[in-house]
Amino acid sequence: MKALVIHAAEDIRWEDRDDPQPAEGEVRLRVRFVGICGSDLHYYFHGANGEYTIREPLTPGHELSGVVDLDPSGRLAPGTPVTVHPARHGADVPGLEEHPHLRPGGDYLGSAATTPHRQGAAAEHLIVAEHMVRTLPDGLPLERAALAEPLAVALHAVSLAGDIRGRRVFVAGAGPIGLLVVAAARRAGAADIAASDLRPEPLARAVALGAGDTFLIGRDAVVDESADVVFECSGAAPSLTQALRTVRRAGTVVQVGMLPNEKIRANLAPLLAKEVALHGAFRFSDEIDDAIAYLAETDALDAVVSHVLPASDAAGAFEIARDSSASAKVLLAL
Ligand code: NAD
Ligand code: ZN
Repeated sequence: MKALVIHAAEDIRWEDRDDPQPAEGEVRLRVRFVGICGSDLHYYFHGANGEYTIREPLTPGHELSGVVDLDPSGRLAPGTPVTVHPARHGADVPGLEEHPHLRPGGDYLGSAATTPHRQGAAAEHLIVAEHMVRTLPDGLPLERAALAEPLAVALHAVSLAGDIRGRRVFVAGAGPIGLLVVAAARRAGAADIAASDLRPEPLARAVALGAGDTFLIGRDAVVDESADVVFECSGAAPSLTQALRTVRRAGTVVQVGMLPNEKIRANLAPLLAKEVALHGAFRFSDEIDDAIAYLAETDALDAVVSHVLPASDAAGAFEIARDSSASAKVLLAL
């Protein structure tokens, strides 16, 4: 089979690999679409994602759709359309009963966090545990289904803000994650949704997905205390400072954007002065099932996918994916 393999920073190859054989309790999938995520971009351009350095060749990818190729148990027929929950959760720890995705010791597709690395989805054939497989409802196109994982991230982030019906929501950063948060907040009943970005193109996409007011950071001033809930979806430290100003007193900020694993400069004073609830959001537990249901309800989220490009030209696809003016979600077709 062919697989995409990152050997080092800016060295990615579409190369032959041994065809993997599923063991008992595992299923072999024929992958069709893989979304390029920020973490994949970090592995490709820097050879590392935060503290996780590539120490052996890594196949990236954790956002995928495809069909069943071989299920040794016979439960899933070949050709059944599927997506995958990318996590194997760690062992239960007291206090984390409700948060399986936070248990230490798990792993995630396409990640160098563990050694050996957990090889990812950007390969023609992928072996996963049966419990990770999610079959798709009839009529859900595979391209759209590749959004299930990032949409689950967005649904999880929105759920952490509590009941947002009738609330004024502000989404800072309108990349693919911010766009999906706009859509998820709208579905959860937010009254109005503002969005910010450094660039105009992501803001135009946010409007298409249901955002009202938009703010081009550097040009437009955001009014202090103008939102009940702010979803910080850029990971930029100035945006966290801005989020703490934008949120109202006793409001909520959900940090979805990945902060760098280092000291950052941010003004946290409003956190206490306004009694802001600041909540981190990390991946998701079972929201991928609701994500699949949501994707089956509407074609509105198709607008999040800006490009579908052949996996054999991954280097070109990664160049496009890192430019948020040029692209939203970029899918690799395998
Ligand atoms: P992206 O880079 O495509 O989008 C980020 C957007 O934020 C860009 O459009 C950029 O122009 C904008 N931006 C940068 N600085 C800004 C600022 N100061 N104010 C407003 N906008 C600003 O990334 P993405 O794929 O949309 O992901 C967004 C973030 O979420 C990334 O940091 C990513 O690592 C993170 N992420 C987190 C999780 C999680 O589990 N919490 C999961 C997936 C991705
Ligand atoms: Zn992702």
